[in-house]
Amino acid sequence: MAKRKIAVIGVGKIAQDQHLPVIDQSEDFELAATVSTRGLGHNGVPVFKTPGELFAAMPEVSLVSICTPPGIRHQYVREALDAGKDVMMEKPPTTTISELDDLIAHADRLGRVLYQTWHSQYNAAVDRTKAILAEQGVVSARIDWRESVRKWHPGQDWVWEPGGFGVCDPGINALSIFTKVMPFPVFVSTSKLTFPANRQTPIDVEITFKSGQAHKPELSAGFNWLEESGEIWTIRFETGTGDVLRLEGGGRSLRINDELVLKHGDAEYGAMYDHFADLLDAGRSDVDAAPLRLMSDVFLMGARVTGPDFEW
Ligand code: NAP
Repeated sequence: MAKRKIAVIGVGKIAQDQHLPVIDQSEDFELAATVSTRGLGHNGVPVFKTPGELFAAMPEVSLVSICTPPGIRHQYVREALDAGKDVMMEKPPTTTISELDDLIAHADRLGRVLYQTWHSQYNAAVDRTKAILAEQGVVSARIDWRESVRKWHPGQDWVWEPGGFGVCDPGINALSIFTKVMPFPVFVSTSKLTFPANRQTPIDVEITFKSGQAHKPELSAGFNWLEESGEIWTIRFETGTGDVLRLEGGGRSLRINDELVLKHGDAEYGAMYDHFADLLDAGRSDVDAAPLRLMSDVFLMGARVTGPDFEW
């Protein structure tokens, strides 16, 4: 079968690190164009300044992958759906729940495929954890998500603007794993957000969750953006049968009672594009709103602390 023609919109860090190389290797997709406000292309494909210019010039391109920051996503996704395109979106999907609800309803109305990606969910160790927790239950969970903003978002001022999520931009990856693997619903009980005095989004977040479960599991999370010693992307679970599970490396490895039982490389984005191909074959959308809902509650419940200024 001929490869499907896809355009990448927004040629920033994640498009260059993951989307473009994965499409280059894909058996299902072929890069047909990019849309880049800075005019960045890839392998000589046509480059357009706006989605509208792409849709007018290359109507045969029926798929787009939107890799911009979340603030512009609602407008771009709507425009793409209205132009008859099927759409894949980077995380976090949008800056507000109402925008995401609108996109789900709009795609449904138009009969288009809308795929909301959560890359951290695409790990075998995450699937194994989910299966174990479904069987053994959870008595405690602790998320530690610490990284360097200077390494992972170099010079990206949008992360510090309202709607830019701050440290909750990587933190939502942890919540995408958490909401996937937990065998019961969880809710935000308390949250404490520390904002640099000169910025609009948090640099450090502490959360406690509640569950409504009779056994009152202890559930908490901490996100920090000033970790310069390397990434700590870990979730520790104590199960109902006394085992301790440590999901490490953002979901790439699993230790049970300190023994490494599963470790794999980075296959997240390849798996996402495979899933998009399956959705297109089935004519089905896939949007999981749970991580954004929970993160939105972190902000709604947030107590504000003001910390030192942040400078790049
Ligand atoms: P980035 O490096 O700032 O790239 C975003 C690109 O979107 C920009 O370079 C720009 O590309 C385009 N763009 C269009 N409208 C824009 C606007 N109003 N403001 C800023 N950029 C605009 O950001 P990124 O790290 O790739 O992140 C993009 C999305 O991917 C975010 O939702 C992020 O959460 C997600 N993500 C990032 C990472 C990571 O490691 N950084 C990992 C996974 C997911 P053009 O100049 O080509 O138009």
